[in-house]
Amino acid sequence: MRAPFIVGNWKMHKTVTESLDYVTAFLPQIAEMRDCDIAVAPVFTALASVAAAASGTALQVFAQDVAAEGPSGAFTGEVAAEMLKEAGCRGAIVGHSERRRNYGETDAIVAAKARRALDAGLLPIACLGETLAERESGAALEVVERQLGAIAGALTEADARRIVLAYEPVWAIGTGRAATPDVAQAMHRHIRSIWEAAFGATAAAELRILYGGSVTAENVADFTSLPDVDGALVGGASLSPAGFAQLIRRSRE
Ligand code: PEP
Repeated sequence: MRAPFIVGNWKMHKTVTESLDYVTAFLPQIAEMRDCDIAVAPVFTALASVAAAASGTALQVFAQDVAAEGPSGAFTGEVAAEMLKEAGCRGAIVGHSERRRNYGETDAIVAAKARRALDAGLLPIACLGETLAERESGAALEVVERQLGAIAGALTEADARRIVLAYEPVWAIGTGRAATPDVAQAMHRHIRSIWEAAFGATAAAELRILYGGSVTAENVADFTSLPDVDGALVGGASLSPAGFAQLIRRSRE
């Protein structure tokens, strides 16, 4: 019932030219993969070009962030959801841990970004996850509940049936130390039960929850085969078109 979803977060990698070269190499490799939603999230400057190159194909384009304000105004350096939509984006990642940690994004800011994205007709992928210290102190569930509560508080039931969530334990991002399938399944199950309490059984059953954190072609199926994992948010392993295509193929095996 929930379409699997694999998203490549390119972070601050690839110029416009490099992004277009990637898409040229990648599109033929995913042409036959019709049972899975596939997206990449390039840097802002490459979004319009990548979206144009991907137009009419199954490849969706996401921004890595979106302004909490909009549709326009005195917000130097920010890009509004409406502008991303016009550039051809299908959605935007919000609340990535690198933004929470390096740019001071609070739960309230992340919730406002998710709200703005939805209002502009974009699909938000809202990221959640605890740090290593939080996990080791036994606070992982509490932290994710707090992050999730802020996002849920900004949504209607209809929104709750559209948004995508990504559980990305901070200690697993870019470290080569992925969560174990047991840890991922337990947290995903917990997130879905919180969604059910907030928005009802239908919204919870429809909610797509991606796992992120050192996902590779070798381990992706360990996660995507889990009952409450509906896909993956992939950083490093999405940077090569052949490698990312292979990872997506493996996720379906
Ligand atoms: C990410 O950037 O969201 C991510 C999960 O990175 P990596 O796959 O490199 O751990």
